[in-house]
Amino acid sequence: MSTPKPAPDFIRQIVADDVAAGKNQGRVITRFPPEPNGYLHIGHAKSICLNFGVAQEFRGQCNLRFDDTNPTKEEVEYVESIQADVRWLGFNWEDRLFYASDYFEQLYQYALHLIQAGKAYVCDLSAEEIRQHRGTLTEPGKDSPYRSRAVDENLDLFTRMRAGEFPDGARVLRARIDMASPNLNLRDPVLYRILHAEHHRTGDRWCIYPMYDYAHPISDALEGITHSICTLEFEDHRPLYDWTLDNLPVPFRPYQYEFARLNLTYTVMSKRKLLKLVQEGRVAGWDDPRMPTLSGMRRRGYPPEAIRKFCDLIGVGKRENLVDLALLEYCVREDLNRRAPRVMGVLRPLKVVLVNYPEGRAEELDAVNNPEDPAMGARKVPFSRELYIERDDFMEEPPKKFYRLAPGREVRLRYAYFIKCLEVIKDATGEVVELRCAYDPETKGGYAPDGRQVKATLHWVSAAHAVPAEVRVYDRLFTQPNPGEDKDTEFQTFLNPDSLETLKPCWVEPSLKGAAAGSHYQFERLGYFCADKDSTLGAPVFNRTATLRDPWAKIQQAR
Ligand code: ATP
Ligand code: MG
Repeated sequence: MSTPKPAPDFIRQIVADDVAAGKNQGRVITRFPPEPNGYLHIGHAKSICLNFGVAQEFRGQCNLRFDDTNPTKEEVEYVESIQADVRWLGFNWEDRLFYASDYFEQLYQYALHLIQAGKAYVCDLSAEEIRQHRGTLTEPGKDSPYRSRAVDENLDLFTRMRAGEFPDGARVLRARIDMASPNLNLRDPVLYRILHAEHHRTGDRWCIYPMYDYAHPISDALEGITHSICTLEFEDHRPLYDWTLDNLPVPFRPYQYEFARLNLTYTVMSKRKLLKLVQEGRVAGWDDPRMPTLSGMRRRGYPPEAIRKFCDLIGVGKRENLVDLALLEYCVREDLNRRAPRVMGVLRPLKVVLVNYPEGRAEELDAVNNPEDPAMGARKVPFSRELYIERDDFMEEPPKKFYRLAPGREVRLRYAYFIKCLEVIKDATGEVVELRCAYDPETKGGYAPDGRQVKATLHWVSAAHAVPAEVRVYDRLFTQPNPGEDKDTEFQTFLNPDSLETLKPCWVEPSLKGAAAGSHYQFERLGYFCADKDSTLGAPVFNRTATLRDPWAKIQQAR
């Protein structure tokens, strides 16, 4: 894209300075470290674009590492979806797929090292007691009575923890740092806990599991990560990251840098909340097109290029903020405007009969596939006596400024002819069910030889040729800009009851009969749509990706 590159963000500046200073012989190795306890979301995309992007720009490498230290919440399904999503976003870890669980034995050996050096001890306090001993931001903590256990006893107990002699929660291994530290994370943090749980990769080989703050720096060191980039909530953990590495004979010394996470309006992003939406059946799964997950956005029809562009535009900073969802939608529209072929489809059909068009006749009209890109060519669209138009495009008593079809009025049918409404047919309830119109054969192609003008151009399909389709019209999932903000109200309270409207049957032009799942279209005048995986031949299903313009932006401007 041709926009000029802005100044590098602070992370890229740090990396550039390190490279210029010859640090690590100019090598740059980053990693993206998801915990496989859910599907990736748009926030993760920011982290992926940053980590893989920095590696690419500095001719380095980015590893994909599963931070799989919590067996009770992690699943193979997540491991697989995460890999598929990172690839889809357009990034490649080549042969560098790692798991923190690959390092369990090394992590254990390092723990023995800390114990031998008097820097870790086995503590028998319960989780609750540990919390009580920890103190507060204004009060120092209290030493555990087990803090001065002899090295031999610690070694013995820790070995037996590993051997499975104790039940869950009976003991933990803690770092011996400083119970009076102003940083609570340094008040003898837990390094290992007992968990008799099956791990998706190591099975029942382990019944003690390392904590994130211990496993993460060591994993980084073992992989030679030069810049360990994470979100701001880990800033307070950095002293523990450094302590761990400074007290172990690790083969390499990485450094941690923190950036502000992405928050988006009308969106919840925590995997815990997203899992709730799935479990409570509020959405049809992790890949529901309303979800902020990458798989949901893919299904909705968001191209990976648009998501990358969005991540580029929001930049990387140190201050938390809330990005407008409209910006992401803007990136999606920009991208699809260039690539999506134009087609015609009618979502809420109203039948039109052209009384002066011969019965049984049909003709093929030329339609442009993309006015933005002549290389995309043209196609033929069938036209005949009976058509469908959009119900909204007709009003029996049109108010001022409604220029579309009305009794006695003439409009243009896109790529076809002028038609004039002669008669309105209603059913017993008074609902309009059909329009009788006349077409002007002289206006083929959409222009009148006598120069007369019409004020509206409508999309349409030929009833005899159109394919029935289901269309799922999506709107934002929440009604509040920041649904997670109010801690006293459950975020589900703000779910938008109208976030999905299923329309059926809709009628689309015959070229869409076998639309392949994932293919993008612009339905003229309606928006961008993407064929869903539920489609079958002759019965396509489309998800509305985005409207053509942002209706919310207009509302905002009007304020
Ligand atoms: P969540 O809080 O949504 O459950 P998480 O931080 O627990 O996410 P991880 O799997 O640990 O999820 O995240 C992997 C990486 O993605 C981490 O480095 C994390 O900092 C980063 N990340 C997670 N959420 C965001 C976000 N909203 N914006 C930017 N980066 C994020
Ligand atoms: Mg996390």
